[in-house]
Amino acid sequence: MRSVQPKATNTAAEGIPSFERGEREVLSLATARPDLDTPAVVKAAVIAAIQIPHTYMTYTASRGLPELRESVALKLGARNGVAYDPESEVLITAGTHEALYVGLQAVVEPGDEVLVLDPSWVAYNGMIGLAGGVARMVTLRDNRLDIDALKRAITPRTRAFVFNNPNNPTGTVFTREELAAVVDLLAAHDILAIVDEIYEEFVYDGRQHVSLASLPGARERVLLINGYSKAYAMTGWRVGYAAGPSWLIDRMLIIHQHLISSPCAFAQKGASVAYSEAAEHVRAMVATYDRRRLLLNEALAAVPKVSYSLPEGACFYFLRVDSGLDSATLAKTIASREGLVLTPGGAFGPSGERHLRFSFAALPEARVGEAVGRLAAALEAIVE
Ligand code: PLP
Repeated sequence: MRSVQPKATNTAAEGIPSFERGEREVLSLATARPDLDTPAVVKAAVIAAIQIPHTYMTYTASRGLPELRESVALKLGARNGVAYDPESEVLITAGTHEALYVGLQAVVEPGDEVLVLDPSWVAYNGMIGLAGGVARMVTLRDNRLDIDALKRAITPRTRAFVFNNPNNPTGTVFTREELAAVVDLLAAHDILAIVDEIYEEFVYDGRQHVSLASLPGARERVLLINGYSKAYAMTGWRVGYAAGPSWLIDRMLIIHQHLISSPCAFAQKGASVAYSEAAEHVRAMVATYDRRRLLLNEALAAVPKVSYSLPEGACFYFLRVDSGLDSATLAKTIASREGLVLTPGGAFGPSGERHLRFSFAALPEARVGEAVGRLAAALEAIVE
């Protein structure tokens, strides 16, 4: 426990004293919690399920509801181009958090090393630490994968490489070529990749999301993780999944059974119609995010001391801020002066220092100007 820190996105909004005066509401852009609504068809499926006596009020099969596993396998085949058996190769979990945690617990023995991108999502290092493993961070080069650096970081203790595509916080969408180089590395060093594809729908400017498991030779070396929180605005429902070779899913199942037995039954029932019936909702949502992204690109350009690149995917700007302050102090100062809560970049890895992550998951277009205005006002006061 001593090596594991609290999760920065959960604690970013704590202790913002001057805003207790109630003059202006706190604007929290620290998390990727969509402000849009869950698709109506998903809600309707849950409401119908709840009316049925007993069936969705009980534990489900610990692998997950059969109809949900089938829908996941269908989607992975049709959209991601990789076939999984819903009986033995899919595990439904309480959000992707649980899928990642259980996956790491299943493969990491105390002292094992796990490669993690620097910067990448805040939870991986904590989960690796809780499994007794050691995170070895490999810095992105100009936001791209540095295959030579990954190679150099491999030791006889390296068990896995965990990363997200698109990347949180940089928004990088990894190309087929980058991913093919990862597959070569996995094979050469007998390493498992745990790939978190939760932002797969959030890719812009005509880019394609490529699923690592779909590349030749990858399937047996990849644990594919995804969920409904982002693309279907279902963060509170806690439904996600892992798909992978049956030996690994079987191991994960044991941990999952002891940990939670099964995810919420009626939430699973709702999720089971998302892939087949809510495609239009996802298209509209991604278009909304794209408009926010483009508006922010213009608005942020006018803020002195801030530099950034246009995100290729996901829902964040990863702002480099030349303030002279470390990122935690900077984020706290901005929050207490302007009530604008951003995530300190250092939480995503050492190379994230001097950065702030600015999420547009819950920033309506009408408030883009206000949010950027608060940032500019805070920086003007802080930075000489
Ligand atoms: N993976 C990444 C990269 C995330 O950014 C997040 C949430 O911010 C999650 C996973 C969590 O997803 P879930 O709600 O399915 O646990």
